[in-house]
Amino acid sequence: MVFRILRPDSETVWKNDIIRKRFARYRSIIDDKEIARYIVAKSIECDFDINDSIKNLENLLAEKSKEFNLLLNKSNEIIENRQIHNMNYVSLAENLANKYLENCIFCERQCKVNRIKGEKGFCLISNDSYVSSAFLHTGEEAPLIPSGTIFFQGCNFGCVFCQNYDISQSWKNTKKIEDIARKIDTIQLANLADRLVEKGAININYVGGDPIPNIHTIVGSLQHQTSNITQLWNSNFYLTEESLSLIIDFMDFWLPDFKYGNNNCAEKYSGITSYYDVVARNLKKIHNAGSGEIIIRHLIMPNHIECCSKPILDFVAKELPKAVMNLMQQFRPEYKASQYPEINRRPNLQEIQKVRKYADELGILYEPVS
Ligand code: SF4
Repeated sequence: MVFRILRPDSETVWKNDIIRKRFARYRSIIDDKEIARYIVAKSIECDFDINDSIKNLENLLAEKSKEFNLLLNKSNEIIENRQIHNMNYVSLAENLANKYLENCIFCERQCKVNRIKGEKGFCLISNDSYVSSAFLHTGEEAPLIPSGTIFFQGCNFGCVFCQNYDISQSWKNTKKIEDIARKIDTIQLANLADRLVEKGAININYVGGDPIPNIHTIVGSLQHQTSNITQLWNSNFYLTEESLSLIIDFMDFWLPDFKYGNNNCAEKYSGITSYYDVVARNLKKIHNAGSGEIIIRHLIMPNHIECCSKPILDFVAKELPKAVMNLMQQFRPEYKASQYPEINRRPNLQEIQKVRKYADELGILYEPVS
């Protein structure tokens, strides 16, 4: 028997005072009372030489980030009356992203391939980005729906139980990327986002595969997007510090996965090193220096309560008190999971209850979105 807990609907969840408080800015953008961060960033003028060194551009990015965060504390009236500049904080980030692409360090795999020249690293995405689908998603967490969700092709992980393996894994051996996804440039992506807003999206949700290999296209599209809409990063969060710096000020809402409570399980099932250290570092950064409006998705895995679920909950309770958690029970042994007997089943009722009880004991807010 599959254990299911009914989630509150969108209307009910917004009546929850704690949710309203924790997601106050996001709610204000939906209500058109505040301006999305990327628009504020485009009002920060930024004069730079596109041929300058990476070091100098990084220093300038850090300066602009400080300026941005000071501006964000000013009144709405001041922010609303600012003009958008052609050369701005977003264009600086886009330029730097394209420089990183020559020696790709978008994620901590750090393949260092020249994607501008068509070389491919683990994710098998070169300079071009591909979208496999985009639609109004009504299956995301209640405060996020309807979500204008854009699925990018390519992933930097190799999870043996991947439920999206047609997008992230299987095409690598059997198909050409053009057969399963549409190539998209920055202007086309912006048009797509604007169309999703017209259809009723309350956020633009970048997912995949994973959006990380596509940072350059996503940041570039912000130059062309026009809607006052929440930008949402839905990712495994295995970014480098450099690539996180490119988006930290532009994203209004964060939807990270936090799968493993230690590095060993991540290496075994996703083929990546230092997972816990990297994701914990990045989550602290978005909590303390980014918008801090976060829903962390934790997929409860069979036989991984003590080694993964509990250490993650301990970390969230201690380091990320503003975050809300989605304790996900939909793990299914897909793709190659049958080769790993300990995860070759769904989590059982006792395991799910144990995780929820532990979260309760730690005072973690999860029920409205789980
Ligand atoms: S995004 Fe990550 S996996 Fe893809 S090429 Fe860059 S460093 Fe490698």
